[in-house]
Amino acid sequence: MDESTNLLQTVLDNLKTEVKDDAYSELFADLSKVHKTERGFIFVVVKNALIKFRLEQFYLNRMNEILNTLTDTKMMFKFILEEEIDQSKGVFKDDPQETKRMREISLRPLKPEYTFNNFVIGTSNRFAASQALQIAESPYAVLNPLYIFGEVGLGKTHLMTAIGHFVLDNDINKNIVYTTAQQFTEDYFYYTNIPKGKAEIETFYNYYRSADVLLVDDIQFLDGKASTQEEFFKVFDYLHSHNKQIVLTSDRPAKSLKNMMSRLVTRFSWGLAVEIGAPDDALRLGILKKKLKSFVSNPELVEEDALNEISSIFTVNIRELEGALKRFISYCVSFDLPFNKENVKVALDGILPDDNKSEASDDAEIEKIKGIVAKYFGISTSDLSSSSRKNKIAYARHVFVYLVKTKHDTPLTSIGKALGNRDHATIAHSFQKIKDLLTSNPLTKQDIDNLTKLID
Ligand code: ADP
Ligand code: MG
Repeated sequence: MDESTNLLQTVLDNLKTEVKDDAYSELFADLSKVHKTERGFIFVVVKNALIKFRLEQFYLNRMNEILNTLTDTKMMFKFILEEEIDQSKGVFKDDPQETKRMREISLRPLKPEYTFNNFVIGTSNRFAASQALQIAESPYAVLNPLYIFGEVGLGKTHLMTAIGHFVLDNDINKNIVYTTAQQFTEDYFYYTNIPKGKAEIETFYNYYRSADVLLVDDIQFLDGKASTQEEFFKVFDYLHSHNKQIVLTSDRPAKSLKNMMSRLVTRFSWGLAVEIGAPDDALRLGILKKKLKSFVSNPELVEEDALNEISSIFTVNIRELEGALKRFISYCVSFDLPFNKENVKVALDGILPDDNKSEASDDAEIEKIKGIVAKYFGISTSDLSSSSRKNKIAYARHVFVYLVKTKHDTPLTSIGKALGNRDHATIAHSFQKIKDLLTSNPLTKQDIDNLTKLID
């Protein structure tokens, strides 16, 4: 075994004494493979995205803490999915002539989960999706370019990437080039400014001209950038005249790109423009159900009411909607809570849209409670924010969290800030700890009752 695998094993052995058995076997039992160690990061392979998310949210800090008691040099764990390792999978042709730099710019994978299969269709994206599919089935035909536009977080990148996957699924030898307009700009400046100058710019041209399908994300980034537009124009014309498919996304219609050269704006409308709009209730719920299936093995445990609740809070951005679902699931799993509506609010605490409203007035109140709790336990207020793990101090800290949360419904992240910048997960642990003790330990109940009287 190499050294980092050994370290991982030792950290896991330590954790085993701290984590409940079933959580341990679910989350940690399969962790054994180190992908690589690089600049102090140990990349540990995990088997799916939800496990990765849960580990990052709730255990990574603790794992790193333990790790740093074992080594003299500063080291950190990072988690990586199998599919992320296998980055360049199938997306690019293998060309032995390729220069090293050419390789570097071609190592941009299509996100594996952005497929048509995973794209839920509703009123707001039906037309866009049907046209995208048509182009994926017969690219290089008439609708060139396809111009997808809409607000942020509504699925433009997903849909564009799905075209790339579909084409590849039918013909692995097709060269799909995905880039963002920003990356395109950076590439251009990089290849024109390196010492060899002209010779190297060929690498840039060759790369973009070699595309069978060119996917350019967030084209609005080129607005106002005249010299890059000029380059993009050349690439566009080259590919278009060779009947190669071009797909663009943008946050606005082409005619609203005010500082884009008119030659380009005209070309953007040669093909077809489709808009993706805001998702309605049915689509949001549909997306939540679809994502749920990929997150958990028994989605039926999640109450429909809970999904409705999440859907009613996050109405304008699908990325946020998805983030909220992940957080809710991992929270309930970690604390062994039912997946119901009541727990949605607790789990999403800190990311709810109106959470930041009354923070200022809360600050004074939090300080007041800190003083009362410290005095009650005979410690100082700085002990509460310190990193001390002494039982008495840790217990006082848990009690403080519980009181602030129940009295003022302060977001856990804000409570964390008041405690020397502890993270959301740590504060959540404290809160649950006291909740549990309240049902099992009369002394805790006594403490909470006493303190509540002192505070009121
Ligand atoms: P945009 O490029 O418009 O900002 P993305 O394509 O990055 O948005 O989508 C944001 C997130 O929402 C992604 O995780 C994506 O998978 C998801 N998403 C968006 N629309 C859908 C949909 N119709 N079905 C499933 N997931 C979707
Ligand atoms: Mg995008």
